[in-house]
Amino acid sequence: MSSKHQFVKLNDGHFIPALGFGTYKPQEVPISKSLEAANLAIGVGLRHIDTAYIYHVEEEIGQAIQSKIKAGVVKREDLFITTKLWCTCFRPELVRPSLEKSLKRLQLDYVDLYLIHYPVPLKPGDNDFPVDEQGKLLLDTVDFCATWEALEKCKDAGLVKSIGVSNFNHKQIERILNKPGLKYKPVCNQVECHLYLNQSKLLDYCKSKDIVLVAYGALGTQRYKEWVDQNSPVLLHDPVLCDVAKKNKQSPALVALRYQIQRGVVPLAQSFKENEMKENLQLSPEDMKTLDGLNKNFRYLPTESISDHPEYPYSEEY
Ligand code: NDP
Repeated sequence: MSSKHQFVKLNDGHFIPALGFGTYKPQEVPISKSLEAANLAIGVGLRHIDTAYIYHVEEEIGQAIQSKIKAGVVKREDLFITTKLWCTCFRPELVRPSLEKSLKRLQLDYVDLYLIHYPVPLKPGDNDFPVDEQGKLLLDTVDFCATWEALEKCKDAGLVKSIGVSNFNHKQIERILNKPGLKYKPVCNQVECHLYLNQSKLLDYCKSKDIVLVAYGALGTQRYKEWVDQNSPVLLHDPVLCDVAKKNKQSPALVALRYQIQRGVVPLAQSFKENEMKENLQLSPEDMKTLDGLNKNFRYLPTESISDHPEYPYSEEY
């Protein structure tokens, strides 16, 4: 089944496409690749794009979105765009200005989803990772519940459709849910989630609160040198995963993504390659069109024996 037309309902009534496209770019990859990849992603039919201030690719994502809208490939409302508030901007007065800067870079009036990127606040300022003389990260003391209230105001102002969190544990989510005067629940918690870290307890907890779990690293991450231990196992080479893939005549990547979708998780998948993007989406727009063309309004169960009755439902085309 294609992931292209599947959506998951969020607790605020909006819908999130079942598969998202990741836009994190490792330092060694040239920025032009982000623009190229976003253009390819929209071109192959991906409609859910996950970005963040800290990836420093919002401008490129915005350019790709605008060019695809201008070319008539998509309308704004066809796209689901997520971006994230960075940890140096958690003080309530910094939230809306930070979102507005993201919107400007993305050339958008609103984003579909805005997330608190990580539950730990950092010292505000121009440095994304402020450190002291010993190289230790400089933390801030702001309570993320106060940050959450500022996100709620951004939603009320129409700058974001939905608001959520990322990298929160269940106790941190609980703190938001129990916050006096809570106006909106987080619609999702975006966390690392894959076959080696399936997050089943967090998933059960999120489901019990009607919060969608969005999975990053669902394919085992890009193994970025700056963050990932290069000796860690390569997920897509896992022999059990490869056996299941072989049995199903599918790629390991697709099985890893379907595993998430079938358990109610919304996975993100990142790639710079068009063939991989198509594979992750499973059916290309051309394939979808070809299959759409098979329709002949043919019913296996026309129940013609009651076709004389005034309420026979199939006298109408639909
Ligand atoms: P993924 O887990 O999506 O893995 C990406 C890797 O999988 C790439 O190396 C890519 O290959 C490979 N790949 C993609 N499709 C296929 C395929 N069909 N067959 C074989 N290999 C494939 O990586 P990310 O770590 O980027 O996570 C996804 C996204 O999640 C990020 O881009 C970002 O948007 C988000 N994220 C959020 C975080 C947060 O804190 N909230 C943290 C980390 C990520 P190739 O190298 O060939 O392109």
